[in-house]
Amino acid sequence: MRGVHATAAGTLRPLSAMATRIPIEIEAPDLAPYAAGNAGIPYMMSFCAAAPGPHVVLNALMHGNEICGAIALDHLLQHKVVPARGTLAFVFCNVDAYRSFDPAAPNASRYIDEDMNRVWDRATLDGKRYSSELMRARTLRPVFDTADYLLDLHSMQFGDTPLILAGMVEKSVALARRLGTPSVIVRDRGHVAGPRLRDYAAFADAASPKTALLVECGQHWEKSSAEVAIMACYRFLSACGVIDPPQAAERAPGRHPPQRVIEVTDAVTVASDDFRFIVPYRGLEVISKAGTEIARDGGRAVVTPYDNCVLVMPSPQLSRGQTAVRLGHYVP
Ligand SMILES: [Zn+2]
Repeated sequence: MRGVHATAAGTLRPLSAMATRIPIEIEAPDLAPYAAGNAGIPYMMSFCAAAPGPHVVLNALMHGNEICGAIALDHLLQHKVVPARGTLAFVFCNVDAYRSFDPAAPNASRYIDEDMNRVWDRATLDGKRYSSELMRARTLRPVFDTADYLLDLHSMQFGDTPLILAGMVEKSVALARRLGTPSVIVRDRGHVAGPRLRDYAAFADAASPKTALLVECGQHWEKSSAEVAIMACYRFLSACGVIDPPQAAERAPGRHPPQRVIEVTDAVTVASDDFRFIVPYRGLEVISKAGTEIARDGGRAVVTPYDNCVLVMPSPQLSRGQTAVRLGHYVP
């Protein structure tokens, strides 16, 4: 289709070829109906069943430019998906960033002041530091603190294969397997720059039953990323028991390829102001030989540490301290 971009107001306009080479196929939903929320927090909708059950939270827009999650939550809310048991919360997370969308810089609306998915530890949240993202995180914290299950929906700048980021705890891998799709499960420790929501507090505690998954639904602007996000939500809600399997099967049918697990062993963090990949990797490439140079960081060679090394989520827009790529291997 022709290159267009989505706006937070929900209209489509031509996109400058300078802004991105990837056509924007999805339309950002109008979140005005959720602005007041229904439980005292703006852009947070919560529904409680009469029957007891878990507190399940679906989170979208941790990054303001990753709109597939907002499309999925809007879809569920418009289809009046409510829990058969327990409580179901829908969170539109970084709405201020989402509303800052600029067609000249479509990736700039990722955040206002700082990456919101690097602030999730108690010391940072309890501290005195201020940012737009920290204010919102502190407002939403009670929702996440009381969640038994969390699904955090994201998308990627490059890479068309959806991924489940399950962290290092077995309980998350088990839940990812109950979803059955996406087909690639990634086990990783997160980022040097700060902890993600999926690794926050009890979610990363093997002794707690509270479980979180992050799903990278596909490329930011591709229609398929919204479809994956919607399917992931239905399967997640079914896996957590708040909707019944037939309701999920109706919306997320079909058989899926067997899931494979990648264990991430290394995260390459940018150390200089001049980091470049040798070739433009898209992710999930398997580099057969150990010692293969994949990037240069301020003149230093970045090489693969072992044979059959898998590149996970290489990031083309890099600055010092950010994760450039994760390195891992498939496990049985
Ligand atoms: Zn993201």
